[in-house]
Amino acid sequence: MSIQLNYQLPTEFVQLITTEQAYAYRVVPVGLDDEVIKLLSDRSTEALKNELEVILNQSISFETVSTQELDKYLSYNFRKTKGEAVTAFNYSNDFIEKLLQTARNIGGSDIHFEPFEEKCRIRFRIDGKLKEHYIIPKEEYPVIVNKIKIKANLDISEKRLPQDGRITLKTELDEFDIRVSSLPTLHGEKIVLRILSKDTDDITLLDLGFTEHELKAYNQSIKKPNGIVLISGPTGSGKTTTLYASLKVLNDEKTNILTIEDPIEYTLEGINQVQLKENIGLDFASTLKTFLRQDPDIIMIGEIRDVSTANMAVRAALTGHLVLSTIHTNSAWATVSRLIDMGIPSFLIASTLNVTIAQRLVRVLCDECKEEHNVKSELFPDNYIVPRSLETHYIPIGCSSCYQTGYQGRKAIYEIIPIDKYLHRKIKENEMDIDSYIEEKKIKTLQNNAIRLVKDGVTSIEEIYPLLIS
Ligand SMILES: [Zn+2]
Repeated sequence: MSIQLNYQLPTEFVQLITTEQAYAYRVVPVGLDDEVIKLLSDRSTEALKNELEVILNQSISFETVSTQELDKYLSYNFRKTKGEAVTAFNYSNDFIEKLLQTARNIGGSDIHFEPFEEKCRIRFRIDGKLKEHYIIPKEEYPVIVNKIKIKANLDISEKRLPQDGRITLKTELDEFDIRVSSLPTLHGEKIVLRILSKDTDDITLLDLGFTEHELKAYNQSIKKPNGIVLISGPTGSGKTTTLYASLKVLNDEKTNILTIEDPIEYTLEGINQVQLKENIGLDFASTLKTFLRQDPDIIMIGEIRDVSTANMAVRAALTGHLVLSTIHTNSAWATVSRLIDMGIPSFLIASTLNVTIAQRLVRVLCDECKEEHNVKSELFPDNYIVPRSLETHYIPIGCSSCYQTGYQGRKAIYEIIPIDKYLHRKIKENEMDIDSYIEEKKIKTLQNNAIRLVKDGVTSIEEIYPLLIS
């Protein structure tokens, strides 16, 4: 089934009214001619016209459509949110604050401000995918950029070099941090805002996506008094979230936890967090050295990306500390080879590594609109052998609760290899073929777990497709 794209309206029109206005008055803007907004409506009356003209402060004209049609247009272009959302492009003084609030309300993680030759656009990243939210006139753009740069303490006169900064935003309910990054491009400065310091209240190991068996194995590994816990996966695969959920379990008044991160994505009461500042020499390795003099029990390092950090992590683990970190590899077992390639002696890896994990995030199908179909082999990569037990799968459709994407939220899938006596010996002897052991131990690979989620109707084949290509 193909998604009908003709209901999708250009952002220029959608942003003329707010989501609340669209649903309250049941109107959808489909055009703007000589300052007259053309609105679709299923009950166009003179009274409604008058009221809307006052509210929008602009002349309007109606085009009547059926209720069914109108509902389609509404759900394709406006997403109902729990909090107050500002869809209409209303360039007020607190525009940036409102934008950030909106992004947060609809579960956005980043906001992109992008200049082009004739106009500029603002996109939100939601569940890992970018979506256009506003088109703004080129003349307005420099004002917006300057406002952001002032808030983030950046040099507004510097337009030729990339800059990084931070904004702390206080709202009535809470306070959160935003990382600001500017990049000069052909048509002006591109700005990306990343929403940080998400509170850790709702993250728990239980909800992330571990199976019961995996959670048990993982918990045993992180509760050891010393050793290394390593999570691998590409950027944006949720590794930091897993680490924080782990720290939450380990955090108590008897334990001294230190973290060094870039950027600090979450804040957690009772732990000491340090922001990496490489330009002043505050890098992972040198901070770790200092950390060891601070009598820590547990150390979390944002990422092991060089040999010196890897060495320090091993040293910390050998001297009785628990070290949690992330690394860039494709699978849990590949992490071992990566450490060997970095020059860490295999006997040291064998004696310090508690567990190696690989992780990915997949989007969760919207329960309101997903549709069940029979499995066909052409949906899978050529060489992939479809398990017999997989008879049906669900596909995304799109409705008003999922912004017509067919998905709502994301879930992690894991591959967890605890280093037991057998694997300890394998690593020490540099024997890297462990396939039969993984099978014998019934350890689920990323691929196994991905297929399970498709079978359970949690995600779609397209979401896990990259994991099926071998
Ligand atoms: Zn839906």
